[in-house]
Amino acid sequence: MLNELVELIHLQKIDNRIAEIETALANVPTYLKESMEHFETLEKKYNEAKAEYEANVAEKETVEKSYNENKALLDKAQKKLSTVKNSKEYEAVLKELDILKKNVNDEELKLLDLNEKIENYEKNIEEMTSKYNEAKQKLEEDKKRRDEENKELVEELEKLKAEREEQVKKIKKSTLSKYERIRKARNNLAIVRIIDETCTGCYMKVPPQLFVEVKKNVHIQQCPNCQRFLYYKEDEQEEN
Ligand SMILES: [Zn+2]
Repeated sequence: MLNELVELIHLQKIDNRIAEIETALANVPTYLKESMEHFETLEKKYNEAKAEYEANVAEKETVEKSYNENKALLDKAQKKLSTVKNSKEYEAVLKELDILKKNVNDEELKLLDLNEKIENYEKNIEEMTSKYNEAKQKLEEDKKRRDEENKELVEELEKLKAEREEQVKKIKKSTLSKYERIRKARNNLAIVRIIDETCTGCYMKVPPQLFVEVKKNVHIQQCPNCQRFLYYKEDEQEEN
């Protein structure tokens, strides 16, 4: 067989194993998926509670400010009441007092309500934080477990990548770039065996003349349908 074809077949073997390992590594085990989901749900709830808590604290500040202002105005109005000169003025101040009293009263109630809410959120957030931390720790542990499980695969992958680097040096640049192009377009499989005039990549029959050319083994040939490199082997038993 053409030396270049032999090297390409070897490269394809490396690439197949790399793809296999990468798929296995990308696969998230159920236990880790569950941990992630659990953690994300808690995180979301925690963030929501925290946002609401902060909104309540901010609202409390606003209400408190307004409450203090109204209280000051109320004090002022009460003092003014003793200095009024006529009944018309007196009525006007009374009316002002009524409004201010109502405002102060409303805001007091509002503050009570907000304080209660804030207290509840604080309690909730405390509980959530411990649950959240627990879930986080579990997630870290599960990730570690997954990494442990994948350790051998990761090591093999590193070895294969180094091996690949050496292997590509044995192949002509133009052939290699063609190989890469086909591999990307054709689901990682760029070089295939031709059997009974049929490309085993796309299972289309090739023209008889091309089959003869492939068998002659002088130049690298490509399948006219899927563009994969083709090679011919007499003995089927030799396959892998
Ligand atoms: Zn084909």
